[in-house]
Amino acid sequence: MDDFLPIAYFQNQFVPFPEAKLSIATHALHYGTGAFGGLRGILDPQNSNQVLLFRLERHCQRLSQSARYLYYDLPAEKIQKVIIEFVQRNRPQTSFYIRPFVYTSDLGIAPRLHNIETDFFVYGMMFGDYLSPDGVSCRISSWYRQEDRSFPLRGKISGAYITSALAKTEAVKSGFDEAILMNTQGKVCEASGMNIFIVRNGQLITPGFDQDILEGITRDSVITLARDLGIPLVERAVDRSELLIADEAFLCGTAAKVVPIQRVESYELPQQRPLTELLRSKLAAITENREPAYQSWVNVVPLS
Ligand code: PMP
Repeated sequence: MDDFLPIAYFQNQFVPFPEAKLSIATHALHYGTGAFGGLRGILDPQNSNQVLLFRLERHCQRLSQSARYLYYDLPAEKIQKVIIEFVQRNRPQTSFYIRPFVYTSDLGIAPRLHNIETDFFVYGMMFGDYLSPDGVSCRISSWYRQEDRSFPLRGKISGAYITSALAKTEAVKSGFDEAILMNTQGKVCEASGMNIFIVRNGQLITPGFDQDILEGITRDSVITLARDLGIPLVERAVDRSELLIADEAFLCGTAAKVVPIQRVESYELPQQRPLTELLRSKLAAITENREPAYQSWVNVVPLS
């Protein structure tokens, strides 16, 4: 419990984190009818009186969009306002992670999204590395990513994460760090909570929006950065056979940041990773607000 930030936002007010509790009958707990966000913040290395949040607007916008699948009208501006106040009340002193969540809070049964109560909460925790920044081994999962025709994949819907959980645990139990899921077309899709890029012959390649991926914000940042740096980039379907012999490959997400893939199944990838390293270090500098050209991606929150 120690790593949680002391104040949560719950049922329209700020309360001590241990008091933010739900009933076992909560609808979303049974049916996965929630949607969440996840964003990172750090104490500004140049000014300990302020906190830097990475791409706050975009994260709030995505959560607001996810909420719409649940017929829950929650404007991005409202989420943003709550998150800023949440940070100011908690005054985090190291790097941290914020988890905003919208869900059906009703106590009745029956899967549905109409005639039902909803709620929005926010909590946070101190947060270091999610995966080893040195690199990870990946198993190609026997579980496939859901398809857009059976699931609103552009939302970060909590129920979808059963597939991620199955894939991750299957990978870890068989000695790997992480899982890579294929989509039902048999193309490389993403990891359990990260998007994927490969490098071949100096070109960055990442599955496009027609490949059942989550619209990752780190992915979007990497694409923008690569284009600005003049790195050739294409969004297209990626075959498993390309991944196995890639010159470089990496996973990216809010929690993981940019993490190199060292090995896929029994195939070792090269240890020299110039593009991965360039993008990783640029992104790290941006999140610390050391790149003036990307200041608009960093939300500065004064603590007093
Ligand atoms: N895919 C999935 C399934 C995820 O859960 C995440 C984490 N939100 C990502 C990709 C990466 O998204 P982002 O960069 O927005 O964190």
